[in-house]
Amino acid sequence: MSRGVELLKNYEALLTRLYSKLPPKRSMRAYDLPVLQIEYVSTHTIVRNFAEACDRLRREPRIVMRFMLRELAMPGAVDDKGQLVIYRKVAPHTIQQLFTRFIETYVKCPTCGSYDTVLERRKGKVWIIKCLACGAETFVRPI
Ligand SMILES: [Zn+2]
Repeated sequence: MSRGVELLKNYEALLTRLYSKLPPKRSMRAYDLPVLQIEYVSTHTIVRNFAEACDRLRREPRIVMRFMLRELAMPGAVDDKGQLVIYRKVAPHTIQQLFTRFIETYVKCPTCGSYDTVLERRKGKVWIIKCLACGAETFVRPI
C-alpha cells in the first residue's frame, strides 16, 4: 500500500469514528438552559420566548404556566404567540427563579442530572419524569 493510500484510509477511519461519536441530537446541558426574555406592558409582565423555552425543555407551555401562576398566586395566560402574560408586575429574577425551580423539579433527572427527559402522565394522577439519558423513572407531584 502506498503512503498516500494509507493516509487516506486512516483519514476515512478517523472520520467514521468522529461521526459515530456524534449524538443524533445535541443534548441539553446546564449552560444552555433557556433564559427568559421578560418585558413589561403597563401592569402586565410578558415572557416573550415562553413557548420556545418550554419546547426546548420538552414540556407543554400550559403545564409550565400552571406551575408558575400557582406559585405566584397570580392570574395569567399563554397568548396565541406563545408568550406568557402575567396580569401583574413581577420582577425578572422572580420569574427566572420560578422557571429554574420548575426545571429542577420537573425536568432534571435526579439520578444522573441530565435535562434530556420527558414528562409522562399515567392514569391521570401519576406523573413520571423519564430520563432519555439513563432511563430512570422518577415520580413527581402532579401540577
Ligand atoms: Zn438520568
